Amino acid sequence: MARYTDASCRLCRREDMKLYLKGDRCYTNKCAIDRRGYAPGQHGQRKSKQTEYGMQLREKQKAKRIYGILEKQFRKYFDMAAKKKGVTGSNLLQILETRLDNVVYRLGFATSRKEARQLVLHEHFTVNGVKVNISSYLINVGDVIQLKDKSKKSSKFKEVIDSTSSKVVPKWLEVDFEKLEGKVIALPEREDVDLEIKEHLIVELYSR
Ligand code: SF4
Repeated sequence: MARYTDASCRLCRREDMKLYLKGDRCYTNKCAIDRRGYAPGQHGQRKSKQTEYGMQLREKQKAKRIYGILEKQFRKYFDMAAKKKGVTGSNLLQILETRLDNVVYRLGFATSRKEARQLVLHEHFTVNGVKVNISSYLINVGDVIQLKDKSKKSSKFKEVIDSTSSKVVPKWLEVDFEKLEGKVIALPEREDVDLEIKEHLIVELYSR
């Protein structure tokens, strides 16, 4: 019998939804959510009633896991969001979306955020012509993200682009697959973020 042992898939099973952490595999019938759609562990199939705190906590964990961020940095983003004008929850999502690793993923230059992070760390991209290897780098409107010339020749990227070029790029970004570059044309609004995150629950959690 097939057995899966992957830690990323356990995170999806814990949140009871696809978090799309493994790139192409997430769109196949090998996805663990489709095969074993219950929480991992001995008591995973037990249904227990969630408290209000439990729901808030799960929502925060879900967001952290989708974007691959640890608690300390996530809290820092929340504090930044709270200081900005506007709705804190939407501000938080906007900050998360504008991380360079997420932008590389959204542009279709990586099949998952995890892969995007690796590619950024390995210095495959420039922002406005300058090499940037910090995955948490926050991009701004007008920024141009480009694959380095040397990396453009890599067969790895050809494979990635083949598998992602049919995916829809969000309207706040513009991509040119010929030049392998993307541009940020606006900051993402809440409706641009196609994720099932109830950000108000995260705000409630941190406001306790
Ligand atoms: Fe694993 Fe991707 Fe399915 Fe999540 S969505 S369970 S990471 S294959």
